[in-house]
Amino acid sequence: MKTIGLLGGMSWQSTLDYYRLINQQVARQLGGFHSAKLSMVSLDFAYLEENMAKGNWSACAEILVAGAQKVEDTGAACLLICTNTLHKVAPQVEEAIQIPLLHIADAAGEALIQKKVASVGLLGTRFTMEEEFYRLRLAEKHGLHVLIPDKKDRQIVDRIIFKELCLGRVESNSRKEYVRIIEGLKSQGAEAILLGCTEIAMLVNEEHTDMPLFDTTAIHAARAVKFSLGEDFSPRGA
Ligand code: GLU
Repeated sequence: MKTIGLLGGMSWQSTLDYYRLINQQVARQLGGFHSAKLSMVSLDFAYLEENMAKGNWSACAEILVAGAQKVEDTGAACLLICTNTLHKVAPQVEEAIQIPLLHIADAAGEALIQKKVASVGLLGTRFTMEEEFYRLRLAEKHGLHVLIPDKKDRQIVDRIIFKELCLGRVESNSRKEYVRIIEGLKSQGAEAILLGCTEIAMLVNEEHTDMPLFDTTAIHAARAVKFSLGEDFSPRGA
């Protein structure tokens, strides 16, 4: 089993889910007392959030590069940046380390294609929904047609992420807003919804909508487990 490196804390609410999901999957696949080999550097999100809001991505890159190098120094065999948005600086991080970066958009793209989804509705921060680093990667590398909500709804989706979910607040009115926005994406032609923010699954799941949901936290965690156990590893009972 290879050691999975996590760069977490963005926010810590979803890093908890990464830790739990990765361990649950390793335990399920290997059985007994097995748990995942992990090493994590968890960053202080406040300074990152402040710099993202100002569009100061070079400051974000500097922090993530330093964190990623620390993860690499622990002997981890791969790196996961435990957030979608900060993959905006993934190229700088990738350049600064020798171990492979398991990109969250590639894990998501592969999962969608495997389920034969061609047209997907994307929910995430305003950066993830609006900027090219994420949408273009899904479109150009994975051939997906990516739909996003209109400007007003993008602001709602983004506000709920930063003002509620990243602070651990789960509000039923916000869930109603997300479900309404998901319905809007469905009527635009989306066949499935990509939860392109690692905290959204705290708010919506299959109980709340009949649209297929692809949760990037779970998908990214599963990708890491596959890497750790070997790409050809066949799970117990398979
Ligand atoms: N964790 C979120 C994401 O997946 C949002 C917080 C952040 O900007 O890192 O995009």
